[in-house]
Amino acid sequence: MIERIRVQGAHIACLSLLLLATSVAALAQEQPLHIKYWLAMSHPNSHLFEVTIEVGLPADTRISSLDFQMPKWSPGRYAVFDFAKNLQEVRARGACPAGLDCSPINLTITRLDDQTWRAQVGSVKPTGMSVMFSYKVFANDLSGTFSELDSRHANFNGGCIFMYVVNHKQDPVALSINSPKDWRIVNGRTEKPDQSEWQFPNWDIMTDTPTEIAPDWTEDDFKFDGKQYHVVVHSMGNEGSKRPALVRDIEKIVRTETAMWGAPEFDSYTFLIHFANDHHSSDGMEHLTSTQIIESGALADPGMYEDTLDAIAHEFFHVWNVKRLRPIELGPWDFTRPANTRGLWIAEGITNYYGHLMQRRAGLWDDAKLFGTLGAQITEIENAPGSRLMSAEESSLSAPFIDDAVHAQQTNLANTSISYYPKGEVLGLVLDLLLRGKTGGRASLDDVMRRMYEEFYLKSPNATYYLRGRGYRPEDFERIVSEVAAGDMSDFFKRYVRDVESPPYEEAFAQVGLRFVREPRQPVGVGISADESDKSNYTIGRVRPDSPAAVAGLEVGDRLMFFGGLKVTPTNFLRLLSRYKPGERAALIVQRGARTVQTSITLGEPQILNYRIEEMKDAPAETKALRAAWLSGK
Ligand SMILES: [Zn+2]
Ligand SMILES: [Zn+2]
Repeated sequence: MIERIRVQGAHIACLSLLLLATSVAALAQEQPLHIKYWLAMSHPNSHLFEVTIEVGLPADTRISSLDFQMPKWSPGRYAVFDFAKNLQEVRARGACPAGLDCSPINLTITRLDDQTWRAQVGSVKPTGMSVMFSYKVFANDLSGTFSELDSRHANFNGGCIFMYVVNHKQDPVALSINSPKDWRIVNGRTEKPDQSEWQFPNWDIMTDTPTEIAPDWTEDDFKFDGKQYHVVVHSMGNEGSKRPALVRDIEKIVRTETAMWGAPEFDSYTFLIHFANDHHSSDGMEHLTSTQIIESGALADPGMYEDTLDAIAHEFFHVWNVKRLRPIELGPWDFTRPANTRGLWIAEGITNYYGHLMQRRAGLWDDAKLFGTLGAQITEIENAPGSRLMSAEESSLSAPFIDDAVHAQQTNLANTSISYYPKGEVLGLVLDLLLRGKTGGRASLDDVMRRMYEEFYLKSPNATYYLRGRGYRPEDFERIVSEVAAGDMSDFFKRYVRDVESPPYEEAFAQVGLRFVREPRQPVGVGISADESDKSNYTIGRVRPDSPAAVAGLEVGDRLMFFGGLKVTPTNFLRLLSRYKPGERAALIVQRGARTVQTSITLGEPQILNYRIEEMKDAPAETKALRAAWLSGK
């Protein structure tokens, strides 16, 4: 969003001057520069990428200085990471283009703020020299947001590597990569073998093109519906001969998601997959013509194959939802402040819902697996204390705090926030089933998504330089849902999207002949959960604010020593609880820092419930038919 300057009541002459100044500035900004990025990696073990941004200035330009800026965050991961913290050795010089005889000159650089450097370029203008702005950037994380350079490979995401020229993010850019001998370069815009040079329409598209460079990645290709698909895998561990089957199952996901949306808007798409085998690197990130998927284990490890397909089903759905059909705030971006959008429950949550549903439609999951997964999402959301405080839209706006953000300050977010992933997933699920029931199977959330894609991406005129179409607002989505439902659906949005009421699960599942079952997880309510990092004690990791534990004054970090006179261990607490009924009291001894505290607790009704979805055997034939259509997409 842009802060609007109020000019009402301003003197008319001042207003004219303001407009004149604005138009001169706009004209100066509109003249595109010749911008080329040179990326080198001469010492992989240093983890330092070497970046040079070459800027050719038009002879008649008024520009006397150029500002180079490092993004504070990058699209798809909304926490602010301040990538400028990893920059070093920032320099600028004037260099002679080929055929011109001149001596290079050093240019003065001033650091303006935490993310911006200004190079004085006035002296190069009359000489015809190019500005060469260079720096090194440290990169030692394998993820969909950060980058990694080491002796095995280079894997980069442009947002944390490439600065942009302020006011020239929209200009076309070229990229040339100089990689170590025998390392091969691949990304979602590779068109020929051994390619090392690219042209991009703007900086945003360049940084949307994550790239892998290594001597030993593999590539398996398939073609579907006239489109070329590349499955690039860099395995740091044993594959157990599972790769051919993985590629075949990826193709099933591509077929199923294309069947719902229609043809994707690209000629070729690349799945960049890492099996990091380091027990911690794990991520998935969507891009226009590729995705980065990073799994922490080896492909041969138990569960890794299924995890990878789950990530693929989610990320490939983003080809349509979020990368092209997008909330208005998601592209082009202002990288000087965090993104603020109410729409991540649609962009991420509904993608999460379809990621799961599509695996059932592709035949990779059976009904039990899908119902179990959806039940687990509902269980997570309905048991979270934050779900009674934070709506789906507020959760979207809180993305900079909750999407992988690291907090130096203690927070209460565990009790006050929810994730827009499961929240958006359960809202998408309920909305889908209600639409199917309401229209007797004539329409569904599939139709809503297709209508949105058509109206905002395919048919809207381009609103900005960045991409086709225009972004949507929350009220646009609400309007399309009502149109597809052929009835007013505003009550759904008021109560379940903008407010914190639980959606009508029973009613939704009944539309497709399913029963929604709630069962207490524990016999009594206490309101604490253990800190699982402490294996030798029962240390409290979380206290529900509305619980018996909160009333008893228990705190995060307390070590529970005795409960009802019996010693507590990390594994016996549930067994101890089973001896009590709601309303009974138990004596407690806890260790709080150096102090031993004696107190008591009055146990309550169970607060944590498990939610399950089961088939109604006696469901009417019509609802069974709706269920079959939902599960098959036909
Ligand atoms: Zn790699
Ligand atoms: Zn996603």
